[in-house]
Amino acid sequence: MQTPSTETIPQTATASGPFDVIVIGAGVAGLYQLYRLRELGLRARVFEAGSDVGGTWYWNRYPGARFDSESWSYGYSFSKELLQEWEWPEHFAAQPDTLRYLNFVADKFDLRRDIQFLSRVVAAQFDEDADHWTITLESGEQASARLLITALGPLSAYTLPVIPGREEFKGQAFHTARWPREGVSLAGKRVGIIGTGATAIQVIQTIASEVGSLTVFQRTPNWAAPLHNRRITPEEQRRIKATYAEIFERCRQTSTCFIHQTDPRKALEVSPEEREAFWEKLYAEPGFGIWVGNFADVLVDKKANALASEFAARKIRQRVTDPAVADKLIPKDHGFGTRRLPLESGYYEVYNRANVRLVDINETPIERITPEGVRTSAEDFPFDVLIYATGFDGVTGPYDRIDIRGPGGRRLKDDWEGMPRTYLGMLIDGFPNLLMVLGPHTARGNIPRNIEEIVDWLTGLVAHMHKNGLRRVETRREEVDRWVSEVEQAVEGLLFSEVNSWQTGVNRNVEGRQVRRVLGYYGGALAYRQRTGDVAVGGYRELLFDAEAARRSARP
Ligand code: NAP
Repeated sequence: MQTPSTETIPQTATASGPFDVIVIGAGVAGLYQLYRLRELGLRARVFEAGSDVGGTWYWNRYPGARFDSESWSYGYSFSKELLQEWEWPEHFAAQPDTLRYLNFVADKFDLRRDIQFLSRVVAAQFDEDADHWTITLESGEQASARLLITALGPLSAYTLPVIPGREEFKGQAFHTARWPREGVSLAGKRVGIIGTGATAIQVIQTIASEVGSLTVFQRTPNWAAPLHNRRITPEEQRRIKATYAEIFERCRQTSTCFIHQTDPRKALEVSPEEREAFWEKLYAEPGFGIWVGNFADVLVDKKANALASEFAARKIRQRVTDPAVADKLIPKDHGFGTRRLPLESGYYEVYNRANVRLVDINETPIERITPEGVRTSAEDFPFDVLIYATGFDGVTGPYDRIDIRGPGGRRLKDDWEGMPRTYLGMLIDGFPNLLMVLGPHTARGNIPRNIEEIVDWLTGLVAHMHKNGLRRVETRREEVDRWVSEVEQAVEGLLFSEVNSWQTGVNRNVEGRQVRRVLGYYGGALAYRQRTGDVAVGGYRELLFDAEAARRSARP
């Protein structure tokens, strides 16, 4: 397997602490967190595994990678100047543009001088006497800070399929999350791809016309709906810039922070004609409307969901010429929208091409990777290039990959073996001075919107500690219990919680990750904002500080 080449390393800071705060990760979350910490006048240092900023948009350079949030609802909202200076070229921007944007932000706010690149954090240890965290990099270098903030991203721990012979393949092989910076020449080549998630769908629809042949190995089909992307016209650009306040206010009012809001009507209560007309309208519109702006009962009522699934299945049958192939592409084990919905641009039509073949590996399982390609129970497939679009150990995976030790050597990975125990998804039971941006149990949807709110909340807590000379912060066990039970209650009745996916913590390639877990707060962004806001306004009475916190840590 190849990994991205190491290109010119940008100006990079070097560790010489101690710092007030260490942040892990220089993606969308880490960059904004650094900006806010600097505003407080604190000494902050960001450690980043990549050679430059961007996080998910740095690593995921695969062909066709792009947003499915509207670009103009995705960028940072904190700087009016930035909003006016930056222009998104398309309604759903492609990865190179998003990476360019994050570089623009890093340059504009001179963020790189506090970021140390090519610095993967492999361990973090809390020192009980000094009340600080010491992190260790892959290189063995260490750095310390009073507070440690993780901005790891929920989808950064990529996973390869557990298939025998993977190392034997003699052609080129890539995981989509480690696509080479210089690109891969695919023209005329025999290409195989394993996976049919959101990533694979973008790759497949993008490369099908360029490659010699494309073989798609599908284990579970996913529902997908059209993205309807297009360029932003100059007139739209002017309107977007003039209405950013309204756009972000709209995002604040929806439960997922996308611009789309659930329709109050129920699919089961309107006439079949009204239902059909609404679904046709949503199918013809850009973005996630058909997922999070659908009838109120579609994601919670099995009958309503079955109708929505029938509608989506009909669309697949209309778009795919061969009925047998269409049938294979229709999910049977989960309903429409119960996994995160991939948005596509001509994905289904790809299967009408003569050079594309869909292999259902439930019928003919992959037996092994051979030096030449892939062997299924029925056939040998020779390839020049093999693409693993096999996803991520979501949400907790990035934490599991760092040896995080709290007081008494307590290991976070052990604590989180089953269900993570967090307070508001931002603090961890038994791990003082460790704060998370977008950790387990936070509200998630249009991610930068969630990130900004979480970073603002954490910055408020850091400011509170700084102002009052506080050295240590801990959770109260009873508050953690309460939050975890609120998180569990919030998914009750949501159909997605009964389906295996990274969102429910299942990854069949990772040992111990075969059982569903609740990894997000699904009570909606408004409830989450209210809940976290109350704690801040109330002066953080739910948290323990200094001597009280130390006593809490001393207890087993
Ligand atoms: P994913 O949705 O988890 O899909 C992984 C795919 O690989 C699945 O089809 C899975 O099949 C298959 N797979 C894994 N191991 C396999 C094996 N051993 N043999 C055969 N097939 C195997 O991952 P993803 O597509 O990278 O997407 C993850 C998330 O990233 C998305 O849900 C989304 O949140 C985000 N994303 C966003 C965008 C965007 O904004 N536009 C684009 C891409 C990704 P099973 O389902 O059977 O496990």
